[in-house]
Formats: sequence, C-alpha cells, structure tokens
Amino acid sequence: MNLALLAMASQLVVIDPGHGGTNAGAKGPGLHEKEVTLAIATRVAERLAKANITVELTRTDDRTMTLRQRVAAANARKADLFISIHANASPTRTQRGYETFVLSARGVDVDGRALRTDTQEARPGIDPDIALVLDDVERGAAQWESADLAARMQRSLKEQRGAEGDRGVRQDAHHVLLGATMPAVLVEVGFLDHPIEGKELALPETQDQLAAAIASAQPVGGRGPMGAGGGESGFQMFVGWYCPVSISV
Ligand SMILES: [Zn+2]
Repeated sequence: MNLALLAMASQLVVIDPGHGGTNAGAKGPGLHEKEVTLAIATRVAERLAKANITVELTRTDDRTMTLRQRVAAANARKADLFISIHANASPTRTQRGYETFVLSARGVDVDGRALRTDTQEARPGIDPDIALVLDDVERGAAQWESADLAARMQRSLKEQRGAEGDRGVRQDAHHVLLGATMPAVLVEVGFLDHPIEGKELALPETQDQLAAAIASAQPVGGRGPMGAGGGESGFQMFVGWYCPVSISV
C-alpha cells in the first residue's frame, strides 16, 4: 500500500446529526430539525463509506446529546474531521439559504481548555502547562483547516443549491464547536420554517442533494506532505490529514 492510500484508509470523519431526543430543534412542515439532520447525515455517511472513508455518526437514533458530548466523542475517537449538520429557523419565517460556521477563536481559548480539564484528557508524560500550550497550537492549526473546509463546504452547497441561497461562511460565539481538536464545521443546510425551503428540506431528493454537497466538500487532492500544492485558500502551511488522492462521492 502506498502512502497516499494509507492516509486515506486512516482518515476518520465524524458526522454529527444536530439535535435529537428531547431537543427537537427547528420545526418544519410535519417534521423537526432532528429528523432532517439524521436523514442527511445518514446519506453523507453512505457516500463517504463508498469512497472508502471511515465515517462515524455521533447518533444513529433519536437521542438527546449536548454539543459538548458530541465533540468529546469525536476527540476521543481521534477523528480527523467533525461536521455537525443543522437546519435553521428565523423569527419572521422569511429567511432562506445555507451557511457554514467555523470554530471560533473564543471557543479555542475558553471552551477548549475547559473541555480538556472536564474530561481529564491528559497528555501522558508531558508537563500539564506545556500540554495546554500544545492544545492551543493544535487548535490553532485545526482552526485554519476548519476555515478552509468551511469554504469548500459553502462552495459545494452553492453548486448544488444555487448561488441565491449562499449566506456565506461565518464565525460567531453561538456556534462554537466546543473543544474540537480536529478541523470542525457546523453546516446550516437551510431554513425549515420557510414556506418553500422548509418543504424542500423535507424531501428525500433535497436531503440527498445536500448530502452530496457535504460529502464532496471533503478536502482531498493535491494537499499535504505527500501531494503537490494546489489548495485554493493559501493555508498550505498546515499539513496533516489532507489526503492527496482524488475521489468522487
Ligand atoms: Zn440546530
């Protein structure tokens, strides 16, 4: 097996269907966000599995989990990538479109450290103070990669769903991906309470379209220590989990 194939085989993507259980999320026509996110996440997982990427879902049934628990599970599994899938709602029910959030700097500084302390996840044999610095370095790199992934995700959604729904890549304090040590993004696929978009999101064909967009945003091809350059965003100084093998999903 050559190095590129080895890199591919070892890549683990954690897909997080937002909400679940008592936390139903936004309400759409005849269904809730928790059902839409699970339907899309399941489709993303199927597509990635076909491309020989190892995928795990944070939930495969209707259960209540906090975002912190979801990220902690991804950290514990040493995931290479974390993608949380959500659907939106707006007070006026007039908003529509898709957007992608990246890990925020505030999340890195405050919640990342808090999570590490909460879960007693020590680095064996390393001075605790130095371990904290290493945590920050890792998260800094992950944050750049998250921004890169978010840009790809948004482009991919635009190809599938049309430019008019493009709300852009965002960062804000309400969408921190608490303590993620891997590149992590949160995708809001559309507005469930919009009279037209909400109905679309309930359709299997739209869910499949969104899954195709999310799956094809996986950063593969031409990056990292084994590949020639070719990244689009200028973040090439960060190498690691990028895999130089092209796939189609
Ligand atoms: Zn949500």
